[in-house]
Amino acid sequence: MSQTVLGDMILKMKAFDSTQLYFNRAADQMDLSENIRKLLLTPKREVQVQVAIERDNGEIATWIGYRVQHDDSRGPMKGGLRFHPDVDLDEVRSLAALMTWKTSVVDIPYGGAKGGIAIDPAGLSQRELETVTRKFVDGIHDLIGPDVDIPAPDMGTNDKVMAWFMNQYAKYHGFNPACVTGKPVELHGLPGREEATGRGVGILTFKLLNRMGRKPAETRVAIQGFGNVGSHAAKFLHEADYRVVAVSDVSGGYHRDGGLDVPGALRYAMEHRGNLAGYAEADKITNEQLLELDVELLVPAALGGVITKHNAPRIKAGVIVEAANAPTDCDADDLLHARGIVVLPDILANAGGVTASYFEWVQNRQRYQWDLNRVRQELDRVLSSSFEKVWQLSVERKVSLRTAAYILGIGRVGRATILGGIT
Ligand code: NAD
Repeated sequence: MSQTVLGDMILKMKAFDSTQLYFNRAADQMDLSENIRKLLLTPKREVQVQVAIERDNGEIATWIGYRVQHDDSRGPMKGGLRFHPDVDLDEVRSLAALMTWKTSVVDIPYGGAKGGIAIDPAGLSQRELETVTRKFVDGIHDLIGPDVDIPAPDMGTNDKVMAWFMNQYAKYHGFNPACVTGKPVELHGLPGREEATGRGVGILTFKLLNRMGRKPAETRVAIQGFGNVGSHAAKFLHEADYRVVAVSDVSGGYHRDGGLDVPGALRYAMEHRGNLAGYAEADKITNEQLLELDVELLVPAALGGVITKHNAPRIKAGVIVEAANAPTDCDADDLLHARGIVVLPDILANAGGVTASYFEWVQNRQRYQWDLNRVRQELDRVLSSSFEKVWQLSVERKVSLRTAAYILGIGRVGRATILGGIT
């Protein structure tokens, strides 16, 4: 086994270990017994399906698709569908559990699930991508549905993929747009769903920094990832007067000390298939350098496991807002905590996406189109009240925001499990 492969495996195990450790830390505070911990941690169902297609060149290609349904004690399970070469069962499992705590933290009536295929969507034609999506639905359609498990976009998937998903699901079960969220607005999607995760990151950042007495104009921001979440977070923070000095994507980082021209970078990415490669209005840096920049706020908004025990001692930002899922390893989290760095955890920081997905599901079931103002107002209301609860709990219990969020999330799931009855 090569060192790189071994290194990747260790990184992934770390992401899985981290979510377990965060859970256990909160469970210790709550005096949860071993039996209840096991019950809450064990996924309800895990599925692997073959996804085989004939490629444009006539060759047969086969991938494995995963769906992990972690918990449904508070409602149908909910979670994204990721297309990325690094996807594997351990990662999907830990992301599914994160969804359970996340939907609970923001108190929407869902459980948690996650899915994915270890595939690089950039290497496929649109026809191939559509066939992959439809084949995956063929494999799991009996196990999902508007009252069971509702997928949504995640890394490497978007509204187009969700439209194919809905269409393929309808072939088996009839028209039911609530079977998936994150659809195009003109095809039963929600105005504001696409921006919601990044916008939510912005809303929560604003609330957190306000509580800490920090002013937007004095806050320099570095954002890793310029996809759906990172780009909308950059836009919101820029418009709210924060000084976004660096952004990055898979092509590397782009840094300008005086502040980036965020609208210009957004335009550039739009004109270049969502990619910043070749953007010349800033200094080129690496993704690793971006994480260690001299800034007040760091927003990881791409991959998991990027903040490790190796780079944590060098991180200069005083505040980290976890827009990505599981960006911080548990041993890195300890180092950050010891250094007084405040971390707004993923299960709250990026919950704007699933909250707007919930609005979309409600809209689909009501057969009544919401407008953008209503979506934004409701999003603000849900996230603001969740933030206040987590903040208060962290003050009362003298624990980190992460542990407070887990206590809130696990507590609600635990109570629902007991109320629903185990037998
Ligand atoms: P996306 O596919 O739209 O964008 C991902 C971004 O990360 C792109 O800019 C890509 O270039 C960049 N990237 C990929 N590999 C990279 C690497 N090795 N180094 C640096 N950058 C790299 O994905 P997204 O939907 O924006 O999701 C980003 C993160 O946010 C993920 O962790 C996802 O789970 C999480 N998240 C997304 C949503 C959502 O609504 N989309 C909701 C909650 C959480």
